[in-house]
Parts: sequence; structure tokens; C-alpha cells
Amino acid sequence: RGTLYIVATPIGNLDDLSPRAARILSTVSVIAAEDTRHTTRLLQHLGVQKRMVALHDHNERARMGVVLEELEAGNSVALVSDAGTPLISDPGYVLVREARNRNLPVSPIPGACAFIAALSAAGLPTDRFLFAGFLPAKRSGRKGILEGLQDESATLVFYESPHRILDTVQDLVDVFGGQREVVLGRELTKAFETFYSGEAKEVLGALQADPHGTRGEFVVMVRGADSQSGDDEAGAIEVDRLISALVGELP
Ligand code: SAM
Repeated sequence: RGTLYIVATPIGNLDDLSPRAARILSTVSVIAAEDTRHTTRLLQHLGVQKRMVALHDHNERARMGVVLEELEAGNSVALVSDAGTPLISDPGYVLVREARNRNLPVSPIPGACAFIAALSAAGLPTDRFLFAGFLPAKRSGRKGILEGLQDESATLVFYESPHRILDTVQDLVDVFGGQREVVLGRELTKAFETFYSGEAKEVLGALQADPHGTRGEFVVMVRGADSQSGDDEAGAIEVDRLISALVGELP
């Protein structure tokens, strides 16, 4: 039985493709790609010609039969998306699930992932984070999700498209308050890589003031709710109460 390799590809800078990923792409029998034209450009860069199967969100269930047949026949297949790690806000879950159900070997070839890259350089706590993918396109849905995360203490991480970024940062101000710390990572690994960071209202202002502010791809990160300070306050009140009680007991 062949192996299904889940191959991460660059999120902008082609040098981020690992030598191992390049070797796998050049040796598998078939590449299952989100967009074959997009992947053709990457393969041209590598000097590789390969049979491809288009596997995107709308046909994944229908087309995965072709991939599973290849694997059952003993041929290896690489799954790639347009950028970064497949299955991370990208197609592939249905295929990987089915391959695992059939006990076919599935092996990751790790590499770029936009939100991991963003988090690693943002300066926000990374010990606990909650990646929530894309927020809903409509404002009411978006605010509903954000309101549900208001008290979450882990760092929050989202993907956002350039034409909604201003609305989304405005929603962050509305829901979390203008003072919550926000970091945006834009065009990571590309020529115009930019980080915007500060209080939510400052980040909104910086984005509005930047003529290129709403171009490119964004990772949105929000500092988690500060549960610690609340606990400290409660703790301090408790200690005061205890001291008063003890003082009252003194002869
Ligand atoms: N699978 C990809 C990954 O591993 O990151 C994510 C694919 S998702 C369809 C595309 C979103 O990822 C973009 O809308 C943006 O939010 C984020 N993204 C991708 N490349 C990026 C980059 N170079 N800089 C900032 N964000 C990026």
C-alpha cells in the first residue's frame, strides 16, 4: 500500500519548501492539489512534472476515490494545498479521515503554516492558544463568535481576508474593548511582511492610516482575557479578610 504524504508548501517565500518536501513531490506517483494551476507553478520552480488530481472543498468527497485507489494499488500520493499546511483552513480532512479508516499509511511532511509563523513572532503568550480559522463573513455571525470568546484566556488566532480586515478589527474593538492587545501578521515571508501590534484601537488606527493596510493576507491574534489579574484581586481580598480575622483574635 502506498503512503499518503501531507506536504506543507510555502506561504509566500519559495525557499521555505523543505528539501524533504521537494524530494517527496518529485517521487510520488500522483499529487492531489487544491488548485492544479497554482501547484504547477511550484512544480515548475522545482523542475518536476507530475500527474495531478484536483482535490478542493467542493469535490473532495467525489474525487478522493481516485486517490484511495492509487494508495490501495501501492502508489504513493502527496496532498498539497495552495499555501502552507493542508487541512489547516484548507481541504484534506475528508481524505485523511478515510485513508486512516482504511488503515492506509498517512505521513506528514511539515513546513510552513501561516498562524504558527505569525504566533512565533508576535510577542503574545504562546503557551496556550486557540486557533479558530476564518471568522464568519457577516458581521452578526462574526460578533457572535467573538462574544463567545470574550472570557477565553488563551491567545486567540484567526485567519482573515484583506477585504474584511478593517471590519474585523473594528469588531475586536467593539467586543473585546479598545485596550485589548492585538497583533496582525500581514504578508508573512513576503516582500511586504508587516506586523501591526498594540491596543486594538491603535491597531485599527494604524491599519486605516496605512495605504497598503488592507492589502495582502492576514493572521489576526488577540491576547487572551486576563484571568490572572482577577484572581490576584480576589486573592488579595481573601488575605485582607484573613488578616483582619487573625488581628481580631489577638489578645
Ligand atoms: N493552509 C494554510 C496555512 O497552513 O497557513 C492556510 C490557508 S487559508 C485558505 C489562507 C489564509 O491563511 C489567508 O487568508 C491568511 O489569513 C492566512 N495566510 C496565508 N498565507 C499568509 C501569509 N503569507 N501571511 C499572512 N497570512 C497568511
